[in-house]
Amino acid sequence: MTSALAPKTKPIYFDPDGLMDRARGAYLGLAVGDALGATVEFMTPREIAHTHGQHKDITGGGWLNLKPGQVTDDTEMSLALGRAILFGGGFHDKTIAEAFSVWLKSKPVDVGHTVRRGIVRFRAAGTTQAPEDEYDAGNGAVMRALPVALSTLGAPHEDVTRAAKLQAHVTHNAPLADLGLVAVVRMVQRALLNSGGAYRDMIAIAHALHEESGKYDFTKKAQINPSGFLPETLRAVFQAFARTDGFEAALIDVVNRGGDADTTGAILGFIVGALHGAKAIPRRWLSALEVDVRNACEDQALQLLELSPLLSGVPVRFIPNSATP
Ligand code: MN
Ligand code: MN
Repeated sequence: MTSALAPKTKPIYFDPDGLMDRARGAYLGLAVGDALGATVEFMTPREIAHTHGQHKDITGGGWLNLKPGQVTDDTEMSLALGRAILFGGGFHDKTIAEAFSVWLKSKPVDVGHTVRRGIVRFRAAGTTQAPEDEYDAGNGAVMRALPVALSTLGAPHEDVTRAAKLQAHVTHNAPLADLGLVAVVRMVQRALLNSGGAYRDMIAIAHALHEESGKYDFTKKAQINPSGFLPETLRAVFQAFARTDGFEAALIDVVNRGGDADTTGAILGFIVGALHGAKAIPRRWLSALEVDVRNACEDQALQLLELSPLLSGVPVRFIPNSATP
């Protein structure tokens, strides 16, 4: 059997008509999953069932006491990364770190520990690469990875990987997390290109990740209460993805597992959003989102896609450390 990560002999057919809808679906799916999951973040499935029955509406609240439709760091950091990519016309580590730093100054409602540490380090020392730490394979660089998938669509695998890691390593630098990061980006890119056969290929990418590291084995015990440790997060995400059909069912499944529910919701949201497109997102969820956030997501989805090698014909631009864009 050939690995899903190996180049295919038959090129994947690119369907330009649905591409915009799938790109918008991915970005809106991220925001919707974040807003939906945040209400039940850090709750157990039992607590969720007791409080909400099945949690399926964007109502705000939760431990962050959010307004209905308010998003958290998952969406905000994605938008910050997207702005940095668009500003630089590509990938420049200092521009990205600076965008994260500006975001942190805005007093966000929530900040992950590893993210804060990386930004504080950048401010103090100007370093844009966190020291490698194999015990620090958190989900914080994957939750914000969508702008990479959009802006590097059509690029060679090496460029996609390089871009994904460049943004990740500003705050998170663990080889185990890099594996998961690259797999998720590839799943999204596969879905963006064309939806025919995409689901099967995406599941194959998840299985290939599990073959690379047994920590990502999602085929065994049901993952409830996923923590911020990326393998746990992705086990919940892949299980929900594998056993449901459609955007809404997938998201309801994953957030009702509790734990880091805004982040499982965000990651699965952009995965299934890329697969099914914006047209598959329930209207009640879209209209619950804050208008500014919804517009920013739609604008970036378009602009990042326009920057991609697939649509621009220009390779991914990596701006050297010494230069400013
Ligand atoms: Mn969050
Ligand atoms: Mn979270």
